Amino acid sequence: MSRSYRIAQMAGDGIGPEVVAEARKVVEAVASAKGFGLSWVDYPFGAEHYLKTGEILPESVLDELQSCQALLLGAIGDPRVKAGILERGILLKLRFFFDMFVNLRPAKAFPRVPLPVPLPEGREMDLLVVRENTEDFYVGLGGDGGSPVDLGLERGLYTMEGEMRVRFSTPQRSAFQVGLATEGAVRRITADACERALGRGEKRLTLATKANAMPQLYGFWEEMARDETEKRGLTFETINVDALCYHLVRTPWKWNVVLCPNMFGDIVSDLLAALSGGLGVAAGANIGAGLGMFEPVHGSAPDIARQNRANPLAAILSAALMLDCLGEKEAARSVEAAVGAFLAGARPDELPEEMGGRGTTSAVGDAVASHL
Ligand code: ATP
Ligand code: MG
Repeated sequence: MSRSYRIAQMAGDGIGPEVVAEARKVVEAVASAKGFGLSWVDYPFGAEHYLKTGEILPESVLDELQSCQALLLGAIGDPRVKAGILERGILLKLRFFFDMFVNLRPAKAFPRVPLPVPLPEGREMDLLVVRENTEDFYVGLGGDGGSPVDLGLERGLYTMEGEMRVRFSTPQRSAFQVGLATEGAVRRITADACERALGRGEKRLTLATKANAMPQLYGFWEEMARDETEKRGLTFETINVDALCYHLVRTPWKWNVVLCPNMFGDIVSDLLAALSGGLGVAAGANIGAGLGMFEPVHGSAPDIARQNRANPLAAILSAALMLDCLGEKEAARSVEAAVGAFLAGARPDELPEEMGGRGTTSAVGDAVASHL
């Protein structure tokens, strides 16, 4: 066999193992159809494992993972574990260690998937949100609890031009959070978004911004992102994130690749997940220079776990993102097409339960695999 990939699997908790099993089934099917090999390394980490052993994610695993080309993740989380422990201990740790600076969230409306805002006849929704994953308001720079003077803000807040913006006259508690943008980070995420836009045959890149209210931070973003985009021959356009949300709901077919600073990307991608059909079909990826991590947007859904009822399409579409990232573009497109063909051709009772059918998790996985 010519090409072969080593893939780590962390199925995790709740419906994670069920949906990952179907994603793996589909990936195996497309690999044998396209003639590449796969070897899987299974990891047990997640809430279940933590409750049993007290172990979250040992350092040694980070080293081991460097020999893998991708990580397929199910869902991590359980109501019995305090919120944040596993997110920080597993997901964030992996993200930082492997410097996964790109968060990808495609939003495509597949046939038969009920949409909260139905598309007009002949219109399609097929967007890609490229979210910067390392900076903005998520860098943990800030202060709270003290008076403005304790926080080092002296008697007021000034703009970069030295103009007074806010004056603190009376002592009071206060808090502030800093949004960070570095040239390197903005340029590398923009370059990545441009490559993806070019790969999709697009001619423009849209940046979600808010430079009118936050000129330093997002003005800088606009300047750097424009330069990177125009260098690659694409048209650069900016839109304020509030207006973007408005237009995404009303005319989702007008948008293609949307580049977002971290916080706007967080918000816009959830909006788009809802608009394009909800958690059952929302796929996600975290990508860097090394190992990429691919996981459905949904969580562990303990209410339907271990009943063969979960919709595996989000996990299957996340696996398609993984194939694309591995360079198996044709295989990735085939998986996406197989999901489309399954949805278009399924009898109503064959659809996933989430879409009003009676198709079990495994039956849906089998049906998608049969289209490959
Ligand atoms: P976590 O704490 O891991 O995020 P959660 O309880 O928040 O888990 P989510 O997975 O985020 O659960 O989803 C919320 C609800 O949406 C679930 O309770 C479930 O009913 C539904 N849901 C989520 N994913 C799926 C899916 N793949 N198929 C069917 N229903 C789903
Ligand atoms: Mg959740």
